Amino acid sequence: MSSERKINFSAGPSVLPLSVLRQAADEMVNFRGTGMSVMEISHRSKAYISIFEETVADLKRLMKVPDSHEILFTHGGATLQFSAIPMNLIGKTGKADYAVTGSFSGLAMKEAKKYGDINVACSSEDRNHTYIPAQEDIKVSSDASYFHYCANNTIFGTEWKYIPETGGVPLVCDMSSNIMSFPIDVSKFGVIYAGVQKNMAPAGMAVVIIDKTLLGGELPLTPKLLSYKVTADADSMHNTPPCYVIYMLGLMMKWMDEQGGLEGMQKIKSEKAKVLYDTIDESELFVGPAEKASRSDMNVTFRTSDEELDAKFIKAATAAGFENLKGHRLVGGMRASIYNAMPFEGVEKLAAFMREFEKNR
Ligand code: PMP
Repeated sequence: MSSERKINFSAGPSVLPLSVLRQAADEMVNFRGTGMSVMEISHRSKAYISIFEETVADLKRLMKVPDSHEILFTHGGATLQFSAIPMNLIGKTGKADYAVTGSFSGLAMKEAKKYGDINVACSSEDRNHTYIPAQEDIKVSSDASYFHYCANNTIFGTEWKYIPETGGVPLVCDMSSNIMSFPIDVSKFGVIYAGVQKNMAPAGMAVVIIDKTLLGGELPLTPKLLSYKVTADADSMHNTPPCYVIYMLGLMMKWMDEQGGLEGMQKIKSEKAKVLYDTIDESELFVGPAEKASRSDMNVTFRTSDEELDAKFIKAATAAGFENLKGHRLVGGMRASIYNAMPFEGVEKLAAFMREFEKNR
């Protein structure tokens, strides 16, 4: 880490690796001999097309995306996918299932209600979203066009530790806050989508990975730019794509390769999460609201028994160089988001600070 850099636990947009930022800075005004910035060149130019194609190929290789699936780059972040998913997929039967395990899955479900009949297949609202329901508690409708769930609940700090079984109903997953933090069998999914601003790149787009057999079923009212088929047919360039974000995503793919790919990311994330959860479990001051079996390796939520003390902790941590530890306003307390680019030593320093804070009371 560079000494003037803060240790940034932001939930998104989030910390990026220093080496990636430095490379982007080096290439900022003259991209690889073109005499222009990546931000200044046409998305149809040879130089840009080569960045684009390499980025898609690297992403495909790192995530082991099978040929049965298409990778799309889309505008509007994950939130626009809350609309695009039902628009493209619900037409089959007019029905869809949603697992509601946090804020974003609730928002996705509400949006989908505009386009068809929605069944809440399971919910963790009864215990304030502190857990992930078990497979036997999920009620899948056999006539649902798809089953939607959110793999990691960024605000509540819970994460699905299994891929739900849906008996043939296509699985649709919002992986915004844990995508590429571990290897996953993409062939099990109808659609995986993610806003890229946490584990993959700076903010500005979403990645959609879709089973090709699901393309082409959009409702007639679907805006052209939201049609997965139109986007797939135009290789994500129906209009001007978020060129610079895709370039940064490309640099991040190279960085992840250097870390040992998704197996490497999985090892590091498990070690980082363990350091913080061990600190919480050994503490007599801090508690983690998420149930142990459902704890997120990406967003570690914790608190003291007293809101004023939480505020004191956050103030002291900020003064010590730890940024963005305040929990989401819906839940309060603290949240340390430890996505792919958070260095291990950043987490170790936070754990040491937590122990010191407790000792000094
Ligand atoms: N889903 C999840 C799990 C998220 O964490 C977020 C953003 N924090 C969103 C969806 C919304 O993403 P965006 O801001 O890219 O629309």
